[in-house]
Amino acid sequence: GRCVVAVDGPSGSGKSTVSRRLAIDLGARYLDTGAMYRAITWAVLRSGVDLADPSAVAKVAGETDLRIGTDPEGHSVTVDGVHVEAEIRGPEVTGAVSAVAAVPAVRSLLVTRQRDLAAAGRIVIEGRDIGAVVVPHADLKVYLTASPATRAARRSAEDATDVGATAADLARRDRLDSTRKADPLVQAPDAVVLDTTEIGIDQVVARLRELLAE
Ligand code: C5P
Repeated sequence: GRCVVAVDGPSGSGKSTVSRRLAIDLGARYLDTGAMYRAITWAVLRSGVDLADPSAVAKVAGETDLRIGTDPEGHSVTVDGVHVEAEIRGPEVTGAVSAVAAVPAVRSLLVTRQRDLAAAGRIVIEGRDIGAVVVPHADLKVYLTASPATRAARRSAEDATDVGATAADLARRDRLDSTRKADPLVQAPDAVVLDTTEIGIDQVVARLRELLAE
């Protein structure tokens, strides 16, 4: 079938690992929408425009040539021909991405591109607003959660930063993302909610495959 899977959840919920694994198992494409917001943020920071000026931020976003791969085993992201896979995970981008993602024109630009990629089917899309906004018609919507301590531990293991600082940063981003005016982070009402604090990635992926087979 068309097979569009929406995976939403906060940072450290396991959504990237689960989404990649599921896409590989299904022979589907994979789209990391957080990487798209991060890449636009990298372009905005490079341009030097004021992050607090939404029209300047929107202008940079509109002029940026963002390319993102959909191979679940690769992770190519380029901005105006520059590979930014590593930089978009750094503290500067992480510190600024919530502000850029709050600009409505940035969201509509990226949501349009995400819908275009989803239209061809066979794709696992991960993000924050995928089931609620980007592909409300998805065949399966999943919302992954984990305890704040687990999320912080996973993130600090990935980027080798202090767990206390990571916990504070996650709490800050959760607050900004869920209280912004444009498309606040909301859970699709029909999403299957899975708490990944206790269960392993293998079990989550197996459960999603069962749900898709139903
Ligand atoms: O998932 P990740 O941590 O890479 O997302 C980075 C940021 O991008 C989030 O904190 C949020 O501000 C924004 N984002 C968003 N909508 C999405 C994906 C990410 O607003 N679909």
